[in-house]
Amino acid sequence: MYDLVIRNGSVVDGSGLPAFRADLALKDGRIAKIGAVAERARQELDATGKVVAPGFIDPHTHFDAQLLWDGYAKPALSHGVTTIVSGNCSLSLAPLRAEHRMKLVGMFNQIEEMPLKAFKEGVIWDWETFSEYIARIRKGLAINVAPLVGHSVIRLWVMGNAAMERTATAAEIAAMQDVLRECLDAGAIGLSTSYVDMDERLAPVPSRYADAAEVDALASVLGEFARVLQIVPEFYDPDLTIARLDQLAELSLKHNIATTFSPLFLNADNAHGVERVMARVDEQFARGARVWPQVQTRPIDISFSFSVPSLLFIRFPSWYRVLRFGAFDDIVAAFSDPESRKNLIQEAAMLEPLWPRLILRQVKTQANQRYVGKTLAEIASLRATTPVDAMIDLSLEEDLEAHFLASGMGHNDDAKVAALLGHPRVHIGASDGGAHILSFSTYGDTGHLFGHFVRNLRSMSLEAAVKKITADTAAIWGIPDRGRLQNGYVADITVFDPQTIDRGEEVFVNDVPGGGSRYVRASQGVDAVIVGGAVAWSLKDGYHDAPGQILPGAPNKAAA
Ligand SMILES: [Zn+2]
Repeated sequence: MYDLVIRNGSVVDGSGLPAFRADLALKDGRIAKIGAVAERARQELDATGKVVAPGFIDPHTHFDAQLLWDGYAKPALSHGVTTIVSGNCSLSLAPLRAEHRMKLVGMFNQIEEMPLKAFKEGVIWDWETFSEYIARIRKGLAINVAPLVGHSVIRLWVMGNAAMERTATAAEIAAMQDVLRECLDAGAIGLSTSYVDMDERLAPVPSRYADAAEVDALASVLGEFARVLQIVPEFYDPDLTIARLDQLAELSLKHNIATTFSPLFLNADNAHGVERVMARVDEQFARGARVWPQVQTRPIDISFSFSVPSLLFIRFPSWYRVLRFGAFDDIVAAFSDPESRKNLIQEAAMLEPLWPRLILRQVKTQANQRYVGKTLAEIASLRATTPVDAMIDLSLEEDLEAHFLASGMGHNDDAKVAALLGHPRVHIGASDGGAHILSFSTYGDTGHLFGHFVRNLRSMSLEAAVKKITADTAAIWGIPDRGRLQNGYVADITVFDPQTIDRGEEVFVNDVPGGGSRYVRASQGVDAVIVGGAVAWSLKDGYHDAPGQILPGAPNKAAA
């Protein structure tokens, strides 16, 4: 008897070939039969009118901390994502010595906007090594996790504070190679490094002090295990990005590894730069190198209030100082004092074109509800003031809990983004799930792919879109037995309605440990999400236990 049969769905199997009508029978966590299934099963799902696809794989996330209190990586799982790659951008939570914990928390807070309180109140720090961390998150895991190990933390582990000061000696590089081997043995899918990120003191993260010899030595260890290297290049500059991808190409060829860099996105002023980067990607693939650029599906929209530091003001020293280090009273004082207010506005003069377009999305007081949904230009004219003054006044009136949305900041040219997403060398990803939780909702990028690019714009077929975020991703990352619907494959499956799948509205919720908040989106049009043969989420019943795994899994080792 089968465990589960999904009946009468339109099967889009990840291969890119046309959909076909079939039943899927699951047994012992794997796909046992695809076709007409006459036998009954312990559990049945009717998928009439729905698409049955492999579970989606999200290659760029920062769920490392959230997995400590939430084995579902909510709400990613409900969007149809059955596997996440964690530990991107040189940052993972292991290996990490006790004395470096607060250092790492500072970096996560600065770079990924993970709140300090969540780490202090939501986390019991009972691991140091990578395998101890894996053992820790494995309990209660309902989503699959393919964890990268961060170069910055390997450096900290081996070099201590010198990791934030200098290049490594030959002996230190050899020690880092040993640590990386241990992590890969414990189940890491690869190594992540960064060439741009800054820590909480605005100093470069440890990985940025590495010289080329160090990165080469670590890549050679990846070669021993055939595992992946992820980097954050100097993405703000096409020439530097091209230089990095050339470096990646040499590492890929020399050590026979896959590499991926993220993010690559389109701005009004860099369209030509992205074309040049893609031309070089094509050249390097033609040489046999694997250098996968990750491109996100959603446009760059940034939400903010002045109650927490925001990405948007990171470039302006006075704003940064008061928003990041000031208490509530300091921020209110800085906005209230006419002189300091004038200085702040002047310092952010380059945002002047942005102010009128900002939309007020949420307030606390009854009096200001009438402005919600309006632009600051509209509100300013109703209040006979300027848009930037309206923003500051509203913030003061709302005890800093006025929430604004800066939409269409980039990556919003439909035709160009569609062409990029459809490019055979583009790896769809870079959701940043679990990070930047106070600036935008990183969930629902897959729903946006189907709702916007497949259904509205028809720039990509349903089959091609499914392949891009399932079989292609599994192939790039070397994840065996997943990403396709095929007999014998692990039953990671998403059932969705192709007419309605989308991302829900962005909402601000308070569900982070320590009283923290974040922006999230609910899924739309997803019916059921199956991990390892068990229904992990359904529209009808919500979240359920499922056998989430660490992928690709410890090589040659019995599961812990
Ligand atoms: Zn990242």
